[in-house]
Amino acid sequence: MADYDFDLFVIGGGSAGVRCARISAGHGAKVGIAEERFWGGTCVNVGCVPKKIMVQAAEYGGWADDAPAFGWDIEKRGHDWNVLRQARDGEVARLSGIYRRLLEGAGVTVFEARATFIDAHTLDVGGQRVTAANIVIAVGGKPVRPDIPGVDCGMISDDLFTLEKRPERIVVVGGGYIGVEFACLLHALGSEVTLVYRQKLPLRGFDLELREGLAEALTAQGILLHPGEDLESLGSAGEDGRVVTLKSGQILETEAVMLALGRVPHTEGLGLEKAGIEVDRKGAVLVDEDQATSQKHVFAIGDVTDRVNLTPMATNLGHALADTLFGNKPRHASYENVPKAVFSSPPIGSVGMTEDEADARGKPAEVFVNRFTPMRHAITKRDGRRSVMKVIVDCETRVILGMHMLGEDAPEMMQGFAVAVVNGLTKEQLDRTIGIHPTAAEEFVTLRSPARRVGDPQAAEEDEAA
Ligand code: NDP
Repeated sequence: MADYDFDLFVIGGGSAGVRCARISAGHGAKVGIAEERFWGGTCVNVGCVPKKIMVQAAEYGGWADDAPAFGWDIEKRGHDWNVLRQARDGEVARLSGIYRRLLEGAGVTVFEARATFIDAHTLDVGGQRVTAANIVIAVGGKPVRPDIPGVDCGMISDDLFTLEKRPERIVVVGGGYIGVEFACLLHALGSEVTLVYRQKLPLRGFDLELREGLAEALTAQGILLHPGEDLESLGSAGEDGRVVTLKSGQILETEAVMLALGRVPHTEGLGLEKAGIEVDRKGAVLVDEDQATSQKHVFAIGDVTDRVNLTPMATNLGHALADTLFGNKPRHASYENVPKAVFSSPPIGSVGMTEDEADARGKPAEVFVNRFTPMRHAITKRDGRRSVMKVIVDCETRVILGMHMLGEDAPEMMQGFAVAVVNGLTKEQLDRTIGIHPTAAEEFVTLRSPARRVGDPQAAEEDEAA
């Protein structure tokens, strides 16, 4: 290693890269890191953190509407976008600064520059030649801009965080995490929102019953849904207007358009070919279970590998790689049972298999479902607040295969339950747990009779015979 400038060089100062650099330095490695845009990456600067602050801002709108039902004499007079912007941007700047200071505090050499490969051990870092025994690619992803006429008339999620004024009317295209979250928060802040997506329901990949519940809730709140629709083109109308043409021929006139059509790995122009590093069709770096690329001393972690593109997964991978390379503690981060949340309104929390996935195993599973109106909304009568809770249980082992919730506080609840599910929680263990009363969470420990059984080959044969 003595022949190289660094034991480890990390490209990208986001969640994965910063954790890997910091922990490696803590294990005694000589580490360098390059970041060209902002410390903390997507999550801190144009993702989870500023989004969550906007979600929290949005929640106050609903609470202000609800308060009179509890006797409060409150009049909601409007929302000041600039106050929210300043609060949000201040917090983002504070956290981004912490990320940088953590690196320096750990003894990592920090480069505020773009790094590209010259060869498999050599990088160009802002014009400087740097060599490293090991290199980690942690450059993340970027929003997709589809190849359609007028695409520049649409914003991507990054742009939402620099808007000086909240659009009064917006069409959000894409029914994934970002589309649904921004549709909800912009609607709650006062915008008229239309959500366009190509599936029958938003959030493909989540449990069907939750997706149905969410679509009902969005409609009940007043978000206009256009399911089963795809984008043909975008255009301008007058000075401030936008026109969205859908493949069905329908035309939507609006003030702003947000495109939330997924993200792609940010590998273009990195010079991966010069280092002999293989990527897939989307540009995602191909890695083995040790996160090693086609060059065994070059690793890739986080969204650049396009697997489970979530911040905690990225930090976990970065930590595991640092422990493996320099901490004498070889380990892998697990991709199994990764808990997920969507900060929609109401939000979703989920861990493990959906009902459809349990069914597809061809082994019997019981599905427990509860739908209820949270106590608060029995008073407020606010529309679109029904909760759905599901637990899916393997009939033979009684192990819980999946837990899912649509409803207030679902992400907070699911983090706790996920600890148990990841560690093999059985239905009987769940049932033995005394509820905390009165909470919504107690409904998870009082599910007595299964709503149905799925994945049972015998039952399926009987159904067919009938
Ligand atoms: P998602 O992959 O979640 O959703 C993309 C959406 O765009 C889907 O509705 C998809 O439809 C649709 N789509 C993709 N391509 C096209 C196309 N060519 N034409 C029409 N529709 C299309 O991506 P997002 O951009 O919403 O979010 C990116 C990622 O960021 C997420 O996958 C997640 O990993 C992460 N994220 C996580 C959050 C959280 O943890 N709460 C919050 C925000 C982002 P279809 O389903 O048919 O493919």
